[in-house]
Amino acid sequence: MTPEKAKEFQRIMKNRPHVVILGAGATVAAIPNGDKNGKKSSVMDGFIEKLGMTQIIQDAGLKTKSSNLEDIYTELHERDDCNEIRSLLDQRIRGYFSAIEIPDEPNIYDLLLLSLRKKDLVGTFNWDPLLLQAYQRVSKITKDLPDLAFLHGNVLVGCCPDHKYGGIIYAKCPQCGNYFQPGRLLYPIREKNYAEDPYIKDNWNAIRNRLRSAYLVTIFGYSAPKTDSEAIALMKEAWGSVDDRNLEDFEFIDIRSEDELTDSWSDFVHSHHYEVHSSFFASSLGKHPRRTTVELFDRTMECKFTRATRKFEPDMDWIKVKKLVEVLVKEEVEIGDDEFLSIESA
Ligand SMILES: [Zn+2]
Repeated sequence: MTPEKAKEFQRIMKNRPHVVILGAGATVAAIPNGDKNGKKSSVMDGFIEKLGMTQIIQDAGLKTKSSNLEDIYTELHERDDCNEIRSLLDQRIRGYFSAIEIPDEPNIYDLLLLSLRKKDLVGTFNWDPLLLQAYQRVSKITKDLPDLAFLHGNVLVGCCPDHKYGGIIYAKCPQCGNYFQPGRLLYPIREKNYAEDPYIKDNWNAIRNRLRSAYLVTIFGYSAPKTDSEAIALMKEAWGSVDDRNLEDFEFIDIRSEDELTDSWSDFVHSHHYEVHSSFFASSLGKHPRRTTVELFDRTMECKFTRATRKFEPDMDWIKVKKLVEVLVKEEVEIGDDEFLSIESA
């Protein structure tokens, strides 16, 4: 490779997307003590009770004795006589999640968004509004933020029933000027049919496109449940064969054991090309914000001992966060079109 070609290769690699996929565990990590008002986000056991649906579900005489939303919803979905209960459950779930508010201090969701750039994408399976609430406030610090994809819908996301536009629920369709209507929430059932709803289909297309060219993928608190085989199949198809992905890296932020994780994701990870972190701050996002793909290249292709000198830390206040991001963004703006960023190394 000529020096010019090598330089061009490095520039292209470092500008490839970083795709982050969020599951329920990410929201638990973001608000470990509850939201701004101490309210917990949980779709685990006991959720039906929190929604005040216990009696209604009992009266419907379901076969399942489980109190898990997934089991209950699967049965409701299969029975035609449960349409009313289903729509009531949907209403209550929207009400519950819509009331969740991001705490005032910098949250992991703020830092996550600020640690990525426009070339990157965050896909979330979560219904809660925290990611969008974070997006609204960090966009005052920089507009160079990742794209978002709502893979199961979201309580703060609306769309136009007649046009292919969607966005924050109180905005208007740019084509017809009508207010957006609440988008669909997709429930944990086996047959999800991601292609049925045009807005959700669009979101899936966005993540698949970005996955095809991704250099780095982070799975944050998403357990890849067996009931969501369609989601895994869609992502797998975009990612391709692990054998063609030996330059790329996979990263997990999760409190589950490494064995459990690699078991769920064996179709995606190349023998040793993955890292497991138990916290956001230990991940590439926390240690090398806005430089995740740059750091990956410098460490693995240039064999540098990269140092995390400009990182996010727990309990940083807004002034510190803003100061760090401004320094990084300034560097990004000043770099020439045919140049590339680098990480400080030992
Ligand atoms: Zn419209």
